[in-house]
Amino acid sequence: METSGNNGRQPLAPLLLKGQKALVTGANSGIGKATAIGLGRVGADVVVNYVAGREAAEEVVREIEGFGVRAYAHEADVSQEDQVVDMVSRMVEEFGTIDVMVANAGLQRDAALTDMTIDQWRKVLDVNLTGQFLCAREAAKEFMRRGVVPEVSRSAGKIICMSSVHQIIPWAGHVNYASSKGGVQMLMATLAQELAPHRIRVNAVAPGAIRTPINRSAWETPEAEADLLRLIPYHRVGDPDDIANVVATLASDLLDYVVGTTIYVDGGMTLFPGFATGG
Ligand code: NAD
Repeated sequence: METSGNNGRQPLAPLLLKGQKALVTGANSGIGKATAIGLGRVGADVVVNYVAGREAAEEVVREIEGFGVRAYAHEADVSQEDQVVDMVSRMVEEFGTIDVMVANAGLQRDAALTDMTIDQWRKVLDVNLTGQFLCAREAAKEFMRRGVVPEVSRSAGKIICMSSVHQIIPWAGHVNYASSKGGVQMLMATLAQELAPHRIRVNAVAPGAIRTPINRSAWETPEAEADLLRLIPYHRVGDPDDIANVVATLASDLLDYVVGTTIYVDGGMTLFPGFATGG
């Protein structure tokens, strides 16, 4: 059986998110799966969004329920406005409200510029950028309606955007993906500025290379992994839990004064490793 979580270790603050309600998009695979489980482990009730793969989503639900919190799976395509509206309104019906929105769902459709079709461009922008806009908008409406409930959290709500080191590192052959993540950076910062007066915290997490299905070709052979490690000063490929742990902490009141920031979780990938020996 696949293990997930903190390599079996207990977290330092087991009930960091006690009583909070979280929604994680794209939560039946990779980073989203680890994050949904990680939020459940520290006390949150969790909605496990997926677009395909109901059985995998139900497995995540069962693992979260094992922590004694509530969870259910919800099928929705984050790029479709009506589906995101329905997903958040069902959550308000089932759980009473939402405290944490993790806009994680994302995909790649790689091609050189001259081969890239308009469908490849649009699909990536629709899911990675428009999907985050829709999820943030629907969550913010509920955060504003409800306001701060001090027994639950110092803030009225948290939006966490899953970005990438490619919000600042250009990436040849991936112009749709890099543009979408550059857009996520400005989406996050603008929403943080707009929503902070409502006591809503908007931040982003920018992973480097994390071992998930999205980038299998970059780590599945020893040669590919060796190439990848040259870009990572810390010299290991990240695990989904490396991201989940940061999201859980960022969503909690421990980081209540963190507003409008991107936390890079990348083993130093954004430190221009080529300059360690060159330049
Ligand atoms: P993954 O492929 O394992 O997971 C992506 C998830 O998003 C899947 O569950 C997929 O079904 C879901 N998804 C795709 N389209 C969707 C849609 N229209 N509606 C709802 N869900 C949809 O990949 P991952 O690595 O876990 O990626 C998660 C996020 O992390 C993405 O935003 C990705 O860009 C980002 N990221 C990943 C890495 C990495 O190295 N793995 C690095 C930087 C950023």
